Amino acid sequence: MKIELQRALVPEDFGREEPCAVCETPFITESVIAYAKTDYGMSLADDSKYTSAVCPECIEVLGAHRPDKFPTIAEYRTALRRYPEPVWASAAAAAAVEGTDAAEDAYQSSFLSRAGLK
Ligand SMILES: [Zn+2]
Repeated sequence: MKIELQRALVPEDFGREEPCAVCETPFITESVIAYAKTDYGMSLADDSKYTSAVCPECIEVLGAHRPDKFPTIAEYRTALRRYPEPVWASAAAAAAVEGTDAAEDAYQSSFLSRAGLK
């Protein structure tokens, strides 16, 4: 398993209640979301209704236990401070640029590198 930090793409991505992909406790997603994935990048969500978002408590525990493997809570908090807004201001704004190189670049850069959060 790996955990990837990704900015919310549209406003609907955050403030949403989801069960944590690790501990199953419901929590509210924020402007940066930690997604649990297989090492091949597949979602770990058991139910396609939900993403594989991981709650802050699990980020804290896993990051403290294996900081070589998982993002730490400090990195997550830095990401939240740095990226308080979604990539696109609205779903309509995202739809307007869909399929363009700019949209692809914005999508790729929504994945945050841990090195950039130190
Ligand atoms: Zn959890």
